[in-house]
Amino acid sequence: MAYLTTTETGQPVLILKEGTGRSRGKEAQRNNIMAVRIIAEAIKTTLGPRGMDKMLISGMGDIMITNDGAAILKEIDVEHPAAKMMVDVAKTQDEMVGDGTTTAMILAGELLGKAQELLDQKIHPTMIVSGYRKAFQKAEEVLQKIGTPVDLDDRETLRKVAVTAMASKVVGEARQHLAKIAVDAVKQIVEQRGEKNSADIDSIQIIKKAGKSLADTELIQGIILDKEVVHPGMPKRIEKAKIALINTALEVKKTEISAEIRIHEPTQMKAFLDQENHMLKDMVEKVKKAGANVLVCQKGIDDLAQHLLAKDGIMAARRAKESDMEKLAKATGGRIINNLDDLKAKDLGEAGLVEERKIGNDKMVFIEKCKDPKSVSVLIRAGLEKMIDEAERAIHDALSVVADVIENNQVVAGGGAVEAEIAKELRDYATKVGGREQLAIEAFADSAEAIPKTLAENAGLNTIDILVALRSAHQKEKGYTMGVDVFSGDVTNMLEKGVIEPVWVKQQALKSATEVASMILRIDDVIAATKPKAEGMPSREEE
Ligand code: ADP
Ligand code: MG
Repeated sequence: MAYLTTTETGQPVLILKEGTGRSRGKEAQRNNIMAVRIIAEAIKTTLGPRGMDKMLISGMGDIMITNDGAAILKEIDVEHPAAKMMVDVAKTQDEMVGDGTTTAMILAGELLGKAQELLDQKIHPTMIVSGYRKAFQKAEEVLQKIGTPVDLDDRETLRKVAVTAMASKVVGEARQHLAKIAVDAVKQIVEQRGEKNSADIDSIQIIKKAGKSLADTELIQGIILDKEVVHPGMPKRIEKAKIALINTALEVKKTEISAEIRIHEPTQMKAFLDQENHMLKDMVEKVKKAGANVLVCQKGIDDLAQHLLAKDGIMAARRAKESDMEKLAKATGGRIINNLDDLKAKDLGEAGLVEERKIGNDKMVFIEKCKDPKSVSVLIRAGLEKMIDEAERAIHDALSVVADVIENNQVVAGGGAVEAEIAKELRDYATKVGGREQLAIEAFADSAEAIPKTLAENAGLNTIDILVALRSAHQKEKGYTMGVDVFSGDVTNMLEKGVIEPVWVKQQALKSATEVASMILRIDDVIAATKPKAEGMPSREEE
């Protein structure tokens, strides 16, 4: 439909191109809100340790089984623009904090659902948005108030935070084992930046190999190269390794333009080949002279160079990934060299052991026992491939939350305890604000309470009983740690149960949910250009 308006003299003015879809006002809003709520409803059943998994089947028939909100939204193909905003929320939450994506989406869905009720009572969207903003600021204050600082040497608390983050993804004994690995890994790579601790989990390499079981997952004090030692004549094991990290090829460059070389006599041919050999020999000589007994090359290594390296007892791997080279530099303290002429003894990295091992069906080179490595590796093992992928997501969540606590240093009780406390404080606050905003703040409080409610629901508990018990527990002194124990069905002190989460995760989840809800509430006009296949964006005629 082309959108038409008329001038004062009644002349039609065509503003938008033929076929442009448009929906306005209440209808646009209702439609966007609906889309977000549908996404939130679909994700809701995965929340918490007793949440269910989703099985996703790609167009190619690949199967993925997961409980991870971000992973689910990444896989499903959503069309609706408001739903796409939710996908972005999940992505941002995942990248910024690495956990709490399901929470953020449930909150967004609730905030918008409650907003719809207020809109139906003729409360203006701007009023709702400003009420939500005030409520969010108050919620932040509450988080600051009830957040408990964590000593960074308090491994026990860090481990509990990791276990809580993995609760919905890994069951049983393995969880403790993986949590310990996550804490050790993050603590190893922490760096002091001025006053602050910085824990960049990108420095932690994750390698997956099917076979054995989750309990065999191990932390390597160094890096694993998914490569073989390049020549059979080379040593397969070197202790006290001195490692040259080179990002240029040990090959004689072939000219770009194909040149023709006319050779008239056999001696000329020999001279030509000798020249090439001489250059390769020279390269190997430089590696040897620097004192290296291991060479990791980001590019290729010529056959002859391989042979010469082997003769000198130097172990080598080629075509290492750039990201692995950087991690290797951090792990071994070596420097990546562009030009072999620059290679000096002080550029070499060090490792207690470099060894080629067979893991599953593949050979891999372990560069380990590094001294205080600032990059480490987690080798994940599990029987089934689907399990490995979910274990990887679980470890990612665990590493993220431990890093969050190390960087931001505050934790709160999980199991819906924080959200219940925020709800309580917001209801008090709402009466002080009064007016129409009061209703929006109360709606925010109800939305926060959706988290303990959903945890209970997913555990098959009676949500009304739980909410009543939870509210009364929070009225008591120090009631802010009381949450839902989804296994016993009781309302208990979650700190004592070891269900602990970073304040940072909670704060970001509330923030992204408030932002996306506000953004959607402010939209009162949707104008969509025609697409070859315009679905999911209803125009006025469709309604
Ligand atoms: P998200 O993507 O939001 O992190 P999860 O499925 O990981 O979603 O669930 C996280 C929620 O589960 C948090 O509210 C957390 O406090 C809660 N939780 C984790 N472990 C427990 C437990 N043992 N008992 C009750 N709640 C738990
Ligand atoms: Mg989680």
